[in-house]
Amino acid sequence: MLGTEAVTKILREKGFKVTPQRLAVYDALSSTKSHPNAEMLYNMLQPSYPTMSLATVYKTMDIFAELGLIQVLNVGEDSYRYDAETGNHPHIRCTECNRVDDIFDFQDEGLMNGVEAKTGYQLSGRQLYFFGRCPHCQEKASALRH
Ligand SMILES: [Zn+2]
Repeated sequence: MLGTEAVTKILREKGFKVTPQRLAVYDALSSTKSHPNAEMLYNMLQPSYPTMSLATVYKTMDIFAELGLIQVLNVGEDSYRYDAETGNHPHIRCTECNRVDDIFDFQDEGLMNGVEAKTGYQLSGRQLYFFGRCPHCQEKASALRH
């Protein structure tokens, strides 16, 4: 994740306008671990930036993605989720409450090697997504049963 100065520098270098709104979108994304989609980001920013439109958020995310400042996640929903942590790491989504969590320090060399062995491809990357019921939702479900 980058600070405001670094983001400003990258935007300028690549010929994009640096606006307070764009910086606020990056700041909002990098200050949460919730992997928000554009609409969630829009709602987070509404109190401080009431004139910002949802279209601006989408456009800003497109620019950030193009510049490699963010990671775009497709966790099987209608809309993309975003992550300011651009290092490769798997994600997991709860199929009940739809929260999306990071999985850090996950060793996937065995998986990668297996895929190469099976396909003959030389892998250059991967996007790993897991699905299931989060601990909180499991607890809720078992509380309902008792
Ligand atoms: Zn859940």
